[in-house]
Amino acid sequence: MSELVIPAPTLPTVPTSTGGRFPVRRVFCVGRNYAAHAREMGHDPDREPPFFFTKPADAVVVDGAGAPFPTMTARLEHEVELVVAIGVGGSDIAVADALAHVWGYAVGIDLTRRDLQAEAKRLGRPWDLAKGFDASAPIGAIVPAGPETGTDPTTGRIELRVNGELRQAGDLADQIWSVAETIAELSRFVELAPGDLLMTGTPDGVGPLDRGDVLVGAIDGVGSVTTTIV
Ligand code: MN
Repeated sequence: MSELVIPAPTLPTVPTSTGGRFPVRRVFCVGRNYAAHAREMGHDPDREPPFFFTKPADAVVVDGAGAPFPTMTARLEHEVELVVAIGVGGSDIAVADALAHVWGYAVGIDLTRRDLQAEAKRLGRPWDLAKGFDASAPIGAIVPAGPETGTDPTTGRIELRVNGELRQAGDLADQIWSVAETIAELSRFVELAPGDLLMTGTPDGVGPLDRGDVLVGAIDGVGSVTTTIV
């Protein structure tokens, strides 16, 4: 077997509540999965179903670490989201079987260069650099799914505070695609694999961030994530 010609990239990982580390393969994200957020972004959720985009695996930021204010934007925004960690891969997964593919859940923040995203929408260009930049995915500890933790979350309050002030509040029950439906739908497009993370969309109340802001996202029964914009 030939040798690697440069050092192998470091495997991104997210700590778990059980003291382990979850290796991250890919990060898939759902767009407009809460009706009120779709409306605040100028869309009609009754006419346009949710859709997918991605971030690179090494965009993850562990709980408590800082996220640098990114270059090339004047409008960084927060989106608090339920994150699903896939432990068992598969394609064409049935909705009824989907939760058996979940290793656990976490709270994440989909940091967004909103000005670049708006320009990309206007020009019909990809969202990659509006969504998939360095340190664009702070994610809290992953809690294993199952009865011990009470986490197979289909309902529960999801919120985000910035410097202690409530900015986003919603309920997982308001997701247009449930976790199971999201897994099933995505698995029709790609073969899911262990290590994949799914960021399942944000409730309404997204807004701008400045350097020094402290973000705390929380979901009932799942936990929290804290990050500072540095
Ligand atoms: Mn999002």
